[in-house]
Amino acid sequence: MFADVKPLPPDPILGLSKLFVDDPRERKIDLGVGVFRAADNTTPVLKAVKIAEQRLLERQATKAYAPPAGVPGFVEGAARLVFGEDSPVLRDGRSAGVQTPGGCGALRVGAEILRRLEAGTVYVGAPTWPNHAPLLTEAGLKLEMIPYYDAQARAIEFDGFIAAVEKLGPGDVLLVHGACHNPTGADLDRAQIDAIIETADRRGFLPFVDLAYHGFAAGLDDDAYIVREMARRLPELLVSYSCSKNFGLYRERTGALLIVGETGERAGAIQSHALNVARGMYSMPPAHGGSIVAEILQSPELEAKWRDELAHMRDTVKANRRLLARTAAEMQLGDALAYIEGQNGMFSLLPLSEKQVLAMREKHGVYMTGNARINLCGVNAGNVAHLCEAYRDVTQG
Ligand code: PMP
Repeated sequence: MFADVKPLPPDPILGLSKLFVDDPRERKIDLGVGVFRAADNTTPVLKAVKIAEQRLLERQATKAYAPPAGVPGFVEGAARLVFGEDSPVLRDGRSAGVQTPGGCGALRVGAEILRRLEAGTVYVGAPTWPNHAPLLTEAGLKLEMIPYYDAQARAIEFDGFIAAVEKLGPGDVLLVHGACHNPTGADLDRAQIDAIIETADRRGFLPFVDLAYHGFAAGLDDDAYIVREMARRLPELLVSYSCSKNFGLYRERTGALLIVGETGERAGAIQSHALNVARGMYSMPPAHGGSIVAEILQSPELEAKWRDELAHMRDTVKANRRLLARTAAEMQLGDALAYIEGQNGMFSLLPLSEKQVLAMREKHGVYMTGNARINLCGVNAGNVAHLCEAYRDVTQG
């Protein structure tokens, strides 16, 4: 059976890391993989996470299976962060959720449920995170791209986006990024979010919000505006939640699928399908990451510590954005990179062609993904001038 199978090419993003490591040049810059990095280029374990882990280790009495919906306190904690302390959705009991292996697991479980419900097409603005396509289409859903961001104009093309959204109807699904759009960094403003909600209300499609960078744009409450408003104004909603970035738990595979229904009973019915889907794929989620998050969110002292650390990560990325935009301006690049300062999260797209991306890498040792996505965590005071020189060379040189 295996004899004629041709191997697939390596994953382009992971392959990029290897190329970077193998590059002998001293002046090289890694703007590739999507993890947070501090000024010293490390992705540290958060202090709140370390303390929670120590407490868990001391207390843990069994490795028996965790409950299928997740470890006690995890989904409740995530729902409080997402919907808010005094959320009417939580008060009215209109939500349910299951712990999943990361945000990817939540997207996949959500996709499997949508296929069972015979959803029409899932629409998502282009460009989007490349893994959205396999996570949704391999569950049997149809995925269609609609306009979202114009890389050359460095701006959201909202007219094109909302005109496409206007054509959706009952049975269709709109996948939207919650905050810190990946790969563009260009987030919808509140008026644009309100317009989408008004359209969803009128046209009857289901929004599916992918919230993978909660707290990295403006803060936990501001970043959840889209989810809270949708939950308040619409009857139904799905949210995929990831704790990979905001708790720094990447490898612990920690996330949740949150469900809002018109009534608690309806949300519960969808939850029963989520559990059934999970049973057929991986049975139950890994416990460790969820236990850490629950431990943090059940301790006011640890939660305060985590919120501080999250604010610090957010401020670091913002400072890097400012540094790049301002250095570019000082280095006679004009306002070519000014837009980067106003965007959110770890990523932005540079308006570079594939050929220019290759020249950045081969000539200057500056590594980014093929679509010219950069992770701002890789920018620092020591390399920003080199980055701007390289940019000037490939665009003007
Ligand atoms: N959605 C988006 C937009 C992402 O960028 C990511 C992580 N790169 C995820 C979902 C899923 O994250 P994870 O499965 O690692 O929690």
